[in-house]
Amino acid sequence: MQMRKVNTFLAGVAATVLAASAAFVPVPFGNGANSSFLDDEADDQKGGFIDLGSNDLRMLPSGEQDIGGIPFQIAPASTSSDKACIVLGGHRRTYLAQSAEVKLAKPLRGDCLYLLHASSFTSADDKPIVGSLHLVYEGGTKEERHVRIGRDVGDWMASRSYRNAVRAWTIYNNNTQVSLFVSTFPLARGKKLAAFSFTADEGLWVVAGATVGDRRKPRQVPLDLRISRSYKFPDLYEKPLPVYPVGAKPRNVVFILGDGMGIGSVTFASNFLRQRPGALVMNQLPYAGLATTYSANADVTDSAASATAFACGRKTNNSMLGMLPDKSHVDSIATRAHAAGFAVGLMTDDPFVGATPSAYYAHVPVRSYSEDIIRDAAKCDFEILLGYHCRRYFLPKAKGGKRRDGRDILSEMTGKGYQLCETFASFIEAPRDKRVLAQLKDGELDEESRYKQLTETALNRLSQDGKRFFVLIESGDPDHGSHANKPTQTVLGVVKIDWAARTAVDWSLAHGGDTLVVVMADHETGGVNATVSPATGKATVHYGATSHTATPVPVFAFGPGAELFEGLYDNTDVAKRLAQLLDLTL
Ligand SMILES: [Zn+2]
Repeated sequence: MQMRKVNTFLAGVAATVLAASAAFVPVPFGNGANSSFLDDEADDQKGGFIDLGSNDLRMLPSGEQDIGGIPFQIAPASTSSDKACIVLGGHRRTYLAQSAEVKLAKPLRGDCLYLLHASSFTSADDKPIVGSLHLVYEGGTKEERHVRIGRDVGDWMASRSYRNAVRAWTIYNNNTQVSLFVSTFPLARGKKLAAFSFTADEGLWVVAGATVGDRRKPRQVPLDLRISRSYKFPDLYEKPLPVYPVGAKPRNVVFILGDGMGIGSVTFASNFLRQRPGALVMNQLPYAGLATTYSANADVTDSAASATAFACGRKTNNSMLGMLPDKSHVDSIATRAHAAGFAVGLMTDDPFVGATPSAYYAHVPVRSYSEDIIRDAAKCDFEILLGYHCRRYFLPKAKGGKRRDGRDILSEMTGKGYQLCETFASFIEAPRDKRVLAQLKDGELDEESRYKQLTETALNRLSQDGKRFFVLIESGDPDHGSHANKPTQTVLGVVKIDWAARTAVDWSLAHGGDTLVVVMADHETGGVNATVSPATGKATVHYGATSHTATPVPVFAFGPGAELFEGLYDNTDVAKRLAQLLDLTL
């Protein structure tokens, strides 16, 4: 078979020049494919990728794709039963396939077989064998290659390349940062490859594409660790903030949450902005503590289990919101406060259905059940609900939405007295006598100092009519920035949180001083380590991961009751202590 020239796959002049003499033939998996790139429901044992629900690879573009300089043919998948890739369960998921075979339409000669693949649930520490690649040549000669994790393949959440596993593609899949690796397996000289197959050992092993071709060094995902902008950040307080008598109780609570904002990213932001650690407004709050973050089923939590912990005071499994592992519902501090007459606001720069705000009112077993989250939003009656727009989950299919139950929840909520705000400006100006449902356009909260306006507006609205209030103010940027190893966004998120902290403390001092301000993170993301050069004052960041990590997170507190947030405790204790301070039961 004639090798096909594939320079059309390659972007860029340099690549095209290189490709002039190179030939690659992507090998479709055909009947060998046994799984989809997307999964509907986690742990239902029906397969669909690696059975982790929406924590999947649905964002991998299909068709002919240049990945790391090697052309691959990615099969399309639009449902969880489509067969687009190869997934082997190994010891980790024994109910998934343990072997798969791909027959080439015609035997092919080439220098190498390239695999686009990844492992999962695996640690590279002792380089276990994920499985074997079996090469079958025309005439029947066979070869077996052991594929080792940490040498020939990497975990899909790894942030680095290995000797024969170049991290060549990465994306944030709305749950975590996931990557695929290109590995090179030399083929026997002078022989034509007729088939190849995979057998599982440790597993889990996902193969998304295979290509036979000339020898070429795959290219890794470029990392850009420079910060490409400057920030407007709040001034520090000149004098120490007041400390309240032990045992004092707050009237209101402002709960500020930096998603993924571990001590490393707080330190990095401080080093970058002020050339020294501990020099943010949040560091000036009089009390600081550390909270552990593990979930009911994992050392490393996701944002759903952690939000359920600090909102409801209970441990649950990753991906579950407002629900225990046995699927019984638990109420949040916001729900209990609202029932006791508090005004409640939940605000984020993430999509409206993001895990953190949703944990305060929704009860779903899987965080990506967005229609059900909106169903619960319609019932909560909170005074402010604000996030990036998710209109499709409010509207039925007949009105261009995605809801399968036919409900138009936008109309239902405006009918109940909610003002729909579709811009940040309209949120600022919303009539005071209405509750607010804000569905902002993506990026409307990118400007960090908007967190000052956001916080001021919310606190003024919620406290009107002399009501007590509980408000959540979140930024997802520390998490997204650290997942993607993009320090520009990591710092942006920390600066937003610092604006919210400064504004909330200022507001409390100007309004009787009886508001407790708590700043914390739901988990650490990215294994962030920050240094600042004494010679140049330049801050440098090192990411150790693209995933969440197991380290405890910082908690900073100001106001009546702030002393309860000192020391080392668990994230569930945060909700319990807030409930104690507000005389609520969880
Ligand atoms: Zn995250």
